[in-house]
Amino acid sequence: MRLSDLPREGKFGPFGGRYVPEILVPCLEELERAYLELRGNPRFQEELSRYLVEYAGRPTPLYLARNLTRYVGGARIYLKREDLLHGGAHKLNNALGQALLARWMGKKRLIAETGAGQHGTATAIAGAMLGLEVEVYMGALDADRQRMNLFRMRLLGARVHLVESGSRTLKDAINEALRDWAENVRHTHYLIGSVVGPHPYPMMVRDFQSVIGREIREQVLAAEGKLPDLLVACVGGGSNAMGTFYPFADDEGVEFLGAEGGGEGGRHSASLARGSVGVLHGMRTYLLQDAWGQVRETHSIAPGLDYPAVGPEHALYRELGRAEYVAVEDGEALEAFQLLSRLEGIIPALESAHAIYAAIQRARRMPKHAVVVVTLSGRGDKDLDIAMRALGGRDGLDRDR
Ligand SMILES: *Cc1c(COP(=O)(O)O)cnc(C)c1O
Repeated sequence: MRLSDLPREGKFGPFGGRYVPEILVPCLEELERAYLELRGNPRFQEELSRYLVEYAGRPTPLYLARNLTRYVGGARIYLKREDLLHGGAHKLNNALGQALLARWMGKKRLIAETGAGQHGTATAIAGAMLGLEVEVYMGALDADRQRMNLFRMRLLGARVHLVESGSRTLKDAINEALRDWAENVRHTHYLIGSVVGPHPYPMMVRDFQSVIGREIREQVLAAEGKLPDLLVACVGGGSNAMGTFYPFADDEGVEFLGAEGGGEGGRHSASLARGSVGVLHGMRTYLLQDAWGQVRETHSIAPGLDYPAVGPEHALYRELGRAEYVAVEDGEALEAFQLLSRLEGIIPALESAHAIYAAIQRARRMPKHAVVVVTLSGRGDKDLDIAMRALGGRDGLDRDR
């Protein structure tokens, strides 16, 4: 079995699938049919690449981080600069892809759910540019914590519904979005933001994000004349990581390393490194649950990593040993956040700082001719408040490492 041929019948080995109420099955079937047809349609693909180039700023650079490489003293470390994509993160690759798909399907309206507001913002950007109506469900508690993103989404023309039910966070927003979709599927597309949820979402989002890995392949071959030895990315739902890994899935010499939110004091969001198999949000995968199957509270300093499950394709990669997943703690990510800022003049998103930390640990033990590529999923401007509070004005940089 070639990994690049997956999914088969909506499954990645024992993971994935379509665990949803019956009322949603026709919505998912319609979406799958439309996507499979458009995936092979050169006019659709050309239109998408034109937007990615002219509007979003692709290709993003592959940058040899010379100062970081010298500091670490091991493998050569390259950064794939998704932080330079319009919107400041990789999320727009997927939002544009699905929004365009929706328009080709004749849908007039996009709905999305958002936790910290990053995915809601990407959806609002894509909807504004493509002339689609956008409505975003956001937990009222999350909205309180992310006033800027709430304002940003509204500024971009999206209608934001604050969800007051349950814990007033992401999982309640997901319930509302699903209810909306089931009622309005004729003219509405539900735009999911990561490689999660029922089939076909994990496959479709992976395909839209794979532009990252395809560009890395071309760029690293041009720069080094060989494929990389190791690819590193952070894993929340897993979309920037899967977009990085997938185009190399069948290249045995290329190792994959995923960095999850290790949190602090026992609270974390490391579904792969520390979770167990179960069913959540329409998929069978690794998740954080208690002995009764109740989903645990999660924590990560990086808002985008704070999710209790992970994409099913990662679950399979973990099971097969195709990729390794490590939990990086809040403090370690903060250390990498400051280090990259000082050494390279690049302030990474806190999510991406997890990948940087994991990459440093690994690169240090690799020979100087080895090549490591880290996907810098986003820029850190959105996280300055969190970082400032966590560092308390202190200089947390450990200069001896
Ligand atoms: C949302 C987000 C993530 C986590 O999402 P994935 O689907 O795991 O990629 C990581 N980095 C940034 C900058 C994000 O905005």
